[in-house]
Amino acid sequence: MSRIELKCDLLVIGSGIAGMAASLFAANRGIKTIQIGKTNTLSFTSGLMDVLAVHPIEEKRLWKNPWDAIDTLKKDISGHPYSKVSKDTIEKAFKELVAFLKSADVPYANYQNKNVNIITPIGTLKPTFFVPESMLNGVSALEEKKPCLIIDFYNLKGFSALQIKETLKDKWQNLRTAQIKFLDSSKEQFAEQMAYDLEKPKNLDKLAKEISPHIKDAEILGIPAILGVKRHSSVLSKLQELLGVKVFEIPTIIPSVPGIRLKKAFEDKLQDIGVQSFYSQEVIQVFHKDDFVFDVTGAASMFKIRTKGVILSTGRFFGGGLSADREKITETIFNLEIYGPFLRKVWHELDFFAPRGHNINNCGIETDEYFHPIDKSGKVIFNNLYAVGSILAHNDWTRMKCGTGVSVATAYSAVNAFLNQKG
Ligand SMILES: Cc1cc2nc3c(=O)[nH]c(=O)nc-3n(C[C@H](O)[C@H](O)[C@H](O)COP(=O)(O)OP(=O)(O)OC[C@H]3O[C@@H](n4cnc5c(N)ncnc54)[C@H](O)[C@@H]3O)c2cc1C
Repeated sequence: MSRIELKCDLLVIGSGIAGMAASLFAANRGIKTIQIGKTNTLSFTSGLMDVLAVHPIEEKRLWKNPWDAIDTLKKDISGHPYSKVSKDTIEKAFKELVAFLKSADVPYANYQNKNVNIITPIGTLKPTFFVPESMLNGVSALEEKKPCLIIDFYNLKGFSALQIKETLKDKWQNLRTAQIKFLDSSKEQFAEQMAYDLEKPKNLDKLAKEISPHIKDAEILGIPAILGVKRHSSVLSKLQELLGVKVFEIPTIIPSVPGIRLKKAFEDKLQDIGVQSFYSQEVIQVFHKDDFVFDVTGAASMFKIRTKGVILSTGRFFGGGLSADREKITETIFNLEIYGPFLRKVWHELDFFAPRGHNINNCGIETDEYFHPIDKSGKVIFNNLYAVGSILAHNDWTRMKCGTGVSVATAYSAVNAFLNQKG
């Protein structure tokens, strides 16, 4: 096993959207950055980027305008991470992120500066803000109720065009469906493999030939999100050209291709702009004097990293930033104080579908306005440590539909705070 010693200005721990965004913002500002991520959670995400769609949770109030929603949220939940960032900050953060993703051929867009409805693989509608450009045609088609064909594939599990049609029948009458054979359809199909297969022009031609006879009067085609990984834009535009109609993607169940596109874009391009990244490595120990020194371990290496600052973007329970046993919830690297319900019996409501959600989904780290973790008395614990993303308290992001927005905006603010502090 090799042993390496490395030095940097900023160490980003985590390779979910918050860690990726923090690494991007740091590299764009010329900060010498190392990123360590144990596993990559991005492949499990839908690839949609929420800003804020639901508030208050108990009323399930849906907002068309996320910016108005944030103004109200700030008045109602003073500890929510959005209460520490301005609208201008959120917009700038997304502008920088979307420009980066466009340069990596993963184009994102928003529709009329409002939350839009994206069709899920079971035909329900999910409100979100930034969407892969490949899904945008579906948003306007649904609003205009255009004649549409939705296809699914033999042996692709978790995606049924018929179910989508049935669920949407009151909202979109002009829907037809068809089931298509894709290459060797006798075996179980996997969205990621199909996406790579479609990057080969002969396979895309074959698919277009299978779909063509079903188009008839349809003005637009809805297809599971399988249109390429790294050559995604050209696969989409070629399929539109071959079929002579607009095409839009519909997210599949996880692992999702739009999430994998994000993962690949970050993993490839962050290195190009100077981030030294180590994926499949885990931070296991930390020592602190003025700088931090970390022990990091992976399958083939063991190394020490000395850094002037740290961005902690290790997520909650799914990412591994928080851990729960029968007694308590702990933060896994620094043993930071956790805001949240202490007694296990109040972590969850008795009713699984309790309208106000579960207390545990609001637990996490509390910070000052610069995203320095604080203790119960409000004192900053380390002035060169920042916490960002879903590890932050007062943020039930799955129910509020603000996951990516909070991650990106807090990463942006923390990187700028580090830069200003460094001078
Ligand atoms: C199934 C699913 C669907 C989603 N759908 C949406 C959606 O539709 N819209 C939306 O906006 N958001 C969605 N999200 C949420 C969003 O993508 C992010 O997961 C969320 O914002 C939190 O991101 P994060 O980076 O803070 O944490 P995480 O994504 O949990 O990432 C934490 C990272 O830290 C790493 N880590 C933890 N401990 C260590 C350690 N000791 N050493 C090294 N690395 C460590 C983990 O390996 C992981 O890479 C979805 C997420 C999931 C899981």
